[in-house]
Amino acid sequence: MLEKGSVERLEDGLKRIRSRGGKINIPAFPPTNASEGALPIDPDFQKKRKVSSRHNGHDVWGPVEPPEKLGIHGTNVAVDWDICEADGICIEVCPVSMYEWAETPGHRTSERKSDPIREGDCIQCLVCESQCLVQAIKISTGPS
Ligand code: ZN
Repeated sequence: MLEKGSVERLEDGLKRIRSRGGKINIPAFPPTNASEGALPIDPDFQKKRKVSSRHNGHDVWGPVEPPEKLGIHGTNVAVDWDICEADGICIEVCPVSMYEWAETPGHRTSERKSDPIREGDCIQCLVCESQCLVQAIKISTGPS
């Protein structure tokens, strides 16, 4: 169910996508990355990592060693904070306002990160995942 204001948010996001050349960012294969050749988020992180803590109502998948290593925030909506560059397109395009900024002073890629504080609201439209330039986001459609 879309909330009031969702369509406007999505339209704002689409405007920004168009301002980048009108192209929808489809991940390249093999994955390429704007930042220092970093890899995209590991789609199998739930098998390979362990939950290290809770944050704003979601799990954080380690290893977590701040400020250098921040781990992956969220499960069904997962944002790899060690990849996130605080571009903010995910926050702008999310039709259900699932993300909010979180401050991460001292981290090498950016000093704030997109935090999936309402991952339970995700409608799996995948716009955020498809628009993230560094492929830091993985939306999973399976059970949590
Ligand atoms: Zn978080």
